[in-house]
Amino acid sequence: ANSVLGGYGTTIFEVMSKLAIDHGAINLGQGFPDVDGPEDVRRTAAEALLGGLNQYPPMMGLPALRQAVADANRRFYGLDIDWTREVMVTSGATEALTDCLMALIEPGDEVVLFEPLYDCYLPMVRRAGGVPKLVRLDPPHWELPVEALKAAFSAKTKLILLNNPMNPTGKVFDRAELEIIAGLVEAHDAYALCDEVYEHIVFDGLAHIPLMTLPGMRKRCIRLGSAGKTFSLTGWKVGYVTADAELMSVLAKAHQFITFTTAPNLQNAVAYGLAKGDDYFTGLAAGMQGKRDRFRDRLGKAGFAAATCAGTYFLNVDFRPTGFDGTDEEFCRRITTEAGVAAVPVSAFYQSDGAVRHFARLCFAKRDEVLDEAAERLANFF
Ligand code: PMP
Ligand code: GLN
Repeated sequence: ANSVLGGYGTTIFEVMSKLAIDHGAINLGQGFPDVDGPEDVRRTAAEALLGGLNQYPPMMGLPALRQAVADANRRFYGLDIDWTREVMVTSGATEALTDCLMALIEPGDEVVLFEPLYDCYLPMVRRAGGVPKLVRLDPPHWELPVEALKAAFSAKTKLILLNNPMNPTGKVFDRAELEIIAGLVEAHDAYALCDEVYEHIVFDGLAHIPLMTLPGMRKRCIRLGSAGKTFSLTGWKVGYVTADAELMSVLAKAHQFITFTTAPNLQNAVAYGLAKGDDYFTGLAAGMQGKRDRFRDRLGKAGFAAATCAGTYFLNVDFRPTGFDGTDEEFCRRITTEAGVAAVPVSAFYQSDGAVRHFARLCFAKRDEVLDEAAERLANFF
């Protein structure tokens, strides 16, 4: 059939996870932690479930969670958010992305996006009738190509989709880069859809800066967060949206027709989690940073050259120094089936021609012994 979505294959995450299972490989492909998030958060969900929080919650989310999201916005970024009108709970950041794109894009509207891109962005932009304008970042340092970014904006630009910290690159946009983006958004009277699901996974003393905190951006930005990443509970699919009240009233229209609500017991537990002390959040970043360092070091000794990784739990490695001269797809298939380590080919995240074909994305949100074993398998294989 002639359909936008019919033209897509199965998402690379599902493909590589299945291949990993079929071959008993350590799965560093799809991004998810191998240790569940805090026990007290999970216990709060279990108690809510047994205690009777199981029917439709309010459409915009449990008040407790909306308040917790507003409080977190103030605590971490100094943002002043009205929880009654400016916060919405969704079934994962994925639903939030879909809500925003369906609500804001009219056929023919242009949408600026950075490549490499997270897999659901482009299909959903296209399905909404948007015209993607891609700006390409390249490894190993993922510098912002300022002229290309400027050229991607036009009078037809409806929004820019900014993933910061960025999957799969591990890039964290700095203030100077965000100022350039903010200037373009303002100049073109556009919106910025800010996917900030990795907001608390930033390394080396860097700070995550929401674009929303820059001058003029409060009413133009929609900020997305996810309990999946912040509490290492990816299967829960609890996301949250922060946006100006007027904008939110439009986003809510999409949400009410797409999922309407999200499991209330999980919402209750995420509200509890967001109120945790600062130690939890700094501990999450420090723990992941330790894993990045450990894994990068071991992979370096095995001959791989890692790209810059300042946030998220993904490390991209150039495999050419090991002597492998095939494509990244061949590389990932080969290491999954023969070395017993699954990864994702980075070209899967590029749309434009001449995509990077010699990098593999590896998820390091795993126990140290699993990372060590994976690095050893790769070292022995090449
Ligand atoms: N955006 C990015 C950049 C992600 O990496 C993910 C998680 N895979 C999502 C959105 C989706 O988050 P959720 O699981 O909350 O839907
Ligand atoms: N966000 C995760 C990743 O990038 C996977 C999410 C998914 O499987 N859709 O690997």
